[in-house]
Amino acid sequence: MVELAYLTAGVLFIVGLKGLTSPKTATRGIRIAAVGMLVAMIVVTFDLLGLDAKFAWGVVIAGVVVGGAIGAVLAIRVQMTDMPQLVAAFNGFGGGASALVAAATVVGANAVLLTETAVVTSLSLAIGTVTLTGSFVAFGKLQGIISGRQVFIPGGAVTNGVIAAGIVAASAVGVFADSSMAYWVALGLAAVLGVTTVLVVGGADMPVVISLLNSFSGIAAAMAGFIIGNQALIVGGALVGAAGMILTIEMATAMNRSIPSILFAQFGGGASAEDIGTKPVNRATADDAAIALAYAERVIIVPGYGLAVAQAQHAVKDLANALEERGIEVTYAIHPVAGRMPGHMNVLLAEADISYDLLLDLEQANPKFAQTDVVLVIGANDVVNPSAKTDPTSPIYGMPILNVDEAKTTIVVKRSLSPGFAGIDNPLFYEDTTLMFFGDAKQALEDALAAINQL
Ligand code: NDP
Repeated sequence: MVELAYLTAGVLFIVGLKGLTSPKTATRGIRIAAVGMLVAMIVVTFDLLGLDAKFAWGVVIAGVVVGGAIGAVLAIRVQMTDMPQLVAAFNGFGGGASALVAAATVVGANAVLLTETAVVTSLSLAIGTVTLTGSFVAFGKLQGIISGRQVFIPGGAVTNGVIAAGIVAASAVGVFADSSMAYWVALGLAAVLGVTTVLVVGGADMPVVISLLNSFSGIAAAMAGFIIGNQALIVGGALVGAAGMILTIEMATAMNRSIPSILFAQFGGGASAEDIGTKPVNRATADDAAIALAYAERVIIVPGYGLAVAQAQHAVKDLANALEERGIEVTYAIHPVAGRMPGHMNVLLAEADISYDLLLDLEQANPKFAQTDVVLVIGANDVVNPSAKTDPTSPIYGMPILNVDEAKTTIVVKRSLSPGFAGIDNPLFYEDTTLMFFGDAKQALEDALAAINQL
């Protein structure tokens, strides 16, 4: 019965994951996977504890109530724009939970373990701990507590290499000499490596790292599954590990980056914070934007993180409706890392019932900009920054961007000349064909719509 229930849970995870491949089936997919998780939790609890371990039952029920309540409150209250931080925290907790399983195993057996168990224990301990501390640095970067720019550490990649070698050496001593102390040294070094590795990642490379940490949390969970001999944890962890790794590779490819270059390269540059916003720009009012938009034939809207902050998705839809009523062709160009999580913009635009057929990905959009009258950039910055093409010292150099500067006119809606996540200046703002329409995205779009209706 237990094996059958684990198999059912595994199948539900896979069917759920498959559902996530399309926005239309994603909600159903999440629900199916949640049912799989519930099945797995119920079965593992009965399987491991039996019915008569009274003390353990109290602990389990307390864990479910407290953990479930915290998870539910966080998930219900979280703002859409803070979702990536929540995911980063969940990744960290997942890694931490796996590391705790490994640590408990070391303590329980006083480090005397079968070699196979010792190997997976050391892997779970190291990978889980790197995921824990790395994810919380990612959380800090996304939350703005830590700068989104690269933070240089003394020795850079060499320091990280030495720490990684130390983890391998300490783990080997733990495994082959049955030394608890060696395991704890490996744990301490892994905690440091998580911090130092994610700190140096800057520019626009964070999405790849977050996806990598997600994958690590799955690998650590699968290792924990081996330690406690639990098939559902092995299957669930392996799915997260594999899916996360595929996403990591796809995002790195889309960003024209290799994973080692993201984790170990410490190139930097770009404008210093003081240089930003000191050059003159063409300012536009709502009336200027309205005239440019209303007399265009073809408009492409480029959404970015600021659109999510302003919750301006419905205002975008209203503006697009007004333009379409005038016979103007309106489409949307979505950069793979726009916003703060994969698919962020797709989810946001779907909330406003904007048809998926109108969304262009980077490859579809870029050839169209040169034939476009007006590109309306709303709260996007890094994903339209031409220095990715022109400035080899830029931290985003080599990243494919949306070539909005090729359009006849580019209107940029944002509140100021402040930089985006990468913390660098954007030469697009100073170009002759760019109009800067300053303001909160929602208010600005509503003002532009009101002005169009007056024409
Ligand atoms: P950016 O972070 O580059 O820029 C967002 C811009 O929005 C800011 O310059 C800000 O300017 C503006 N803004 C903020 N609030 C508002 C508002 N209320 N109204 C109008 N504008 C506003 O966003 P992009 O989407 O262009 O790029 C995403 C960045 O995030 C990339 O660097 C990416 O690598 C990174 N990232 C992406 C993840 C992903 O998975 N997609 C995950 C982690 C990081 P101002 O303050 O002047 O208004």
